[in-house]
Amino acid sequence: MIVFDLRCTQAHVFEAWFASTTAYEEQRERGLVSCPTCGDTVVEKAVMAPNVGAKGNRAPAVVPPGSPAEVLRQLASRQAELLRRSRWVGSDFAAEARALHEGERSEGAIHGQASAAEVSELIEDGVPVAPLLFPVAPPDQIN
Ligand SMILES: [Zn+2]
Repeated sequence: MIVFDLRCTQAHVFEAWFASTTAYEEQRERGLVSCPTCGDTVVEKAVMAPNVGAKGNRAPAVVPPGSPAEVLRQLASRQAELLRRSRWVGSDFAAEARALHEGERSEGAIHGQASAAEVSELIEDGVPVAPLLFPVAPPDQIN
């Protein structure tokens, strides 16, 4: 048995099983192969390869560039770049974030530590905060 992806004149694509390619040809010519959606007996093999052009009605597979390890490395590198322009405020994060949000300070980005409860309160108050993707060692604990 072999399976073909078939397409009718209404562009419905469906799967059908046949004993062989010859059996498919014979059944198709006798009008025995019909579209399960509209009953059309004028069918042809659907083009299955991606990026075939106008005939293909399926979106090409999206393949993320790079391996998972490479993607993680790029994310880590992006985070490191953002943190270089960000000020470490340690456990004062919640207070500092609130001060920034309320316009008491105008300095740029900050990062630091906050408890889950503090983060919940910040989010409830509409302060834009986001977790870091990768854990960062506090600068005062590195040495
Ligand atoms: Zn159809």
